[in-house]
Amino acid sequence: MKILLSNDDGVHSAGLKALHDALSDEHEVVVVAPDRERSAAGHSLTLHHPLRVVEVSQRWFSVDGTPTDCVHLALNGLLSGPKPELVVAGINMGANLGSDITYSGTVAAAFEGTLSGVPSIAVSLVSRGPFEFAPAATFSARLVGEVARRGLPEDTLLNVNVPDLPGDRIRGVRVTRQGKSFYGEAIVEKVDPRGRKYFWIGGGDAEWAREGDTDLDAAHEGFISVTPLHLDLTNEAAHQAMSEWSF
Ligand code: MN
Repeated sequence: MKILLSNDDGVHSAGLKALHDALSDEHEVVVVAPDRERSAAGHSLTLHHPLRVVEVSQRWFSVDGTPTDCVHLALNGLLSGPKPELVVAGINMGANLGSDITYSGTVAAAFEGTLSGVPSIAVSLVSRGPFEFAPAATFSARLVGEVARRGLPEDTLLNVNVPDLPGDRIRGVRVTRQGKSFYGEAIVEKVDPRGRKYFWIGGGDAEWAREGDTDLDAAHEGFISVTPLHLDLTNEAAHQAMSEWSF
């Protein structure tokens, strides 16, 4: 298969290299990734300034844009030859579980592939470092084989999170639902050298609700989590209920 790789940790990320090495024996792999870290870029697309592309090595492109820009360019004209048949984003240095999915540039890269009609997978390592990518890379290659055989439903991508364990201690694979996580008061307020206040988001651990069958449950219990996500954000129950509303 012809596979497009991208990420949000930047073109020099060791996670991207690990993914490339795991897939390039069996597949034709091309990399298009941001020139620097763009974690938490969400699904943003650059519309108001030009994008510069550098081929840093053969079939390995760096773009001064977001993960979404990279996939959008790659699937709409940057690459010569046939369109990639699969997009894989990652391996992200950190989890993309529960509500974090909406901030993630890694997952957004897979959203973008899906929007273009190309089956897409996002892979993340549930770790804050040091990062041992081998188990996630091995699993990615297996999952790519399975997706190649079975395909994916329309408008659906796979969000994969691999626990930070040696391969032989990972307990298995669970197909999960997206859970709910939330950050409490993880804003740091300080004063800069010129006496002005500044704020820095993040730093704390996310809280999450144990529900049993979610991505968060699986990752915390030592399983690889595979969540099928779709792009339709409609709340079907609310859609039904709101037919009663009078406007
Ligand atoms: Mn990242």
